[in-house]
Amino acid sequence: MTIPAGDPLVARMRPFGTTIFATMSALAVRTGSVNLGQGFPDTDGPAEMLAAAEAALRGGFNQYPPGPGQPVLRQAVSAHQRRFWGLDYDPDGEVVVTAGATEAIAAAILGLCEPGDEVVCFEPFYDSYAASIALAQAVRRPVTLRPGADGRFHFDPDELRAAFGPRTRLLLLNSPHNPTGKVFDADELRLLADLCREHDVYAVTDEVYEHLVFDDAAGPHTPLATLPGMRERTLRISSAGKTFSCTGWKVGWASGPAPLVSAVLRVKQFLTYVNAGPFQPAVAVALGLGDDYFTGFTAGMQARRDQLRAGLAEAGFTVLRSEGTYFVNADIRSVGGTDGEEFCLSMPERYGVVAVPSQVFYDDVAAGRHLVRFAFCKRPEVLDEAIARLRKA
Ligand code: PMP
Ligand code: GLN
Repeated sequence: MTIPAGDPLVARMRPFGTTIFATMSALAVRTGSVNLGQGFPDTDGPAEMLAAAEAALRGGFNQYPPGPGQPVLRQAVSAHQRRFWGLDYDPDGEVVVTAGATEAIAAAILGLCEPGDEVVCFEPFYDSYAASIALAQAVRRPVTLRPGADGRFHFDPDELRAAFGPRTRLLLLNSPHNPTGKVFDADELRLLADLCREHDVYAVTDEVYEHLVFDDAAGPHTPLATLPGMRERTLRISSAGKTFSCTGWKVGWASGPAPLVSAVLRVKQFLTYVNAGPFQPAVAVALGLGDDYFTGFTAGMQARRDQLRAGLAEAGFTVLRSEGTYFVNADIRSVGGTDGEEFCLSMPERYGVVAVPSQVFYDDVAAGRHLVRFAFCKRPEVLDEAIARLRKA
């Protein structure tokens, strides 16, 4: 008996190695470094949510939930979007619960793109985007974000216009944006909406950091779906992981017009079928928490951004603007670095701290070679320790 020769992995997945997050977290553990690489909080979420999960675990929520998600969660997702963003989605048909935002993104791309369809996105992009686009045999059309003299990441509007064409199927937009910390402003969103309407394409928006917009953003978080003519062509994606510090629960959702949500559900039912039974009612409780939770969460994370930003500057890094998310980027040329990947591999020895090279999120690697992403979603004492180590070196 023989087995087929060669790498069994399909060609379209071969360019994708182990994710940078897994690699860098393993490096941190192996070297005893402070892990400011992978973006996950080091505290548990709100007590009410944890208590609700415990109750659900003991209270009959351990079997398959309904395919689109528990009604109580779909209702809470709908109410949350009305409350914060003024968007109305019918919990029955316009909301689907997914295994994190990651599954919603994958199912959206797999469910909406034919082979050869083009997806316009901004680079650097979250790592799952390229893989999901490749799985669908679609084509990514990245538009590059580059830091300006103001420390903010900008794109060239002409480059964006040129990325849209007859094969464009959808715009995949992440704002607040990982890994840059950019929050797309009103003018930028208007241009994106104009292009979506002009070329008659869908928008898939990844808004997992919707509650993490800070004081130096030009305005509050604005879902693209709230712009004229956009609700009917936009699939909005978010998740509980970031807002409620429960990244391991993998509870996400997609909202939009019924045909778009139905496309996601059609694919999702054959990826995971359903997920996170007892966590779904707990996330429903979290989504309904009072305004004090949400304002406290944003303010707390902004204070940590300020803490890390100041520490990085004291350690000699040129620090770029972080208007939102868990992340801030630093330019390593100010501390003698040239290549972010090399620099990050040397960081455990040099500093006892781990970060993530932003270049791995670019097709145009040269555009991000000098940038390193630091996560500040950690306890203040952990950030203090990291800063002390960075300064000592
Ligand atoms: N999109 C972005 C921009 C992210 O940073 C992340 C990761 N945290 C995800 C999607 C994935 O979210 P989830 O863990 O809910 O799958
Ligand atoms: N979103 C997190 C980050 O950007 C990590 C998620 C993951 O490890 N897949 O760091």
